[in-house]
Amino acid sequence: MRRIILSSGNKHKINEIKDILKNMPFEVLSKNDLGYEDFDVVEDGRTLEENAYKKAKELQKLTKGIVIADDTGLFVDALNGQPGVHSARYAGERATYAGNNKLLLKNLQNVPEEKRTAYFKTVIVVIFEDGSKLTAEGICKGYIGFEEKGSNGFGYDPLFVVEGRDKTFAQLTEKEKNQISHRANALKNLQSKLEAIIEDFGIK
Ligand code: IMP
Repeated sequence: MRRIILSSGNKHKINEIKDILKNMPFEVLSKNDLGYEDFDVVEDGRTLEENAYKKAKELQKLTKGIVIADDTGLFVDALNGQPGVHSARYAGERATYAGNNKLLLKNLQNVPEEKRTAYFKTVIVVIFEDGSKLTAEGICKGYIGFEEKGSNGFGYDPLFVVEGRDKTFAQLTEKEKNQISHRANALKNLQSKLEAIIEDFGIK
């Protein structure tokens, strides 16, 4: 069984990824399981893929095994795709979730509901021992509400109204969110790609 290492310390992400990979011939470990709690990279890429690749590559230099990393952004149409790749630091270097949400509402102050469309996008990169990589993406469409609603989730969840649901991510249970989220969709795509590789190369 081959080891696959997650370049993340976020428990929520780790559980989601472990769940998707549970029937595959991989032993799934997080960076923390290997003692790399402090591992971090500067996310200065121009795209989500560049950031995810950097996170995976840097960790692989230390661990040598197969590594998975992801990066996510919220893309708001009326703001030309902002905050996008800068989602974590939208309100500045030391931005908090609350600060980011406040700035987002301010920047959309006079924008009517039909023009507040947005989507979350997640890019996952897997780097294998030989340096070859696999990329999978997932999105979730919706729009930005006029005020925060709900108390579940994190980040922009209280402002992101899911298309067709009339509820923000923060008003959904974790289980409901994990069935339709950008990360879940990216993981489903990753799952299909990994299954194809396992079949093609007979990874055991
Ligand atoms: P990361 O790539 O997962 O670290 O995400 C970057 C930033 O995007 C986070 O700091 C959050 O502000 C935001 N974000 C990522 N995923 C979600 C989500 O599922 N809901 C709300 N905000 C998210």
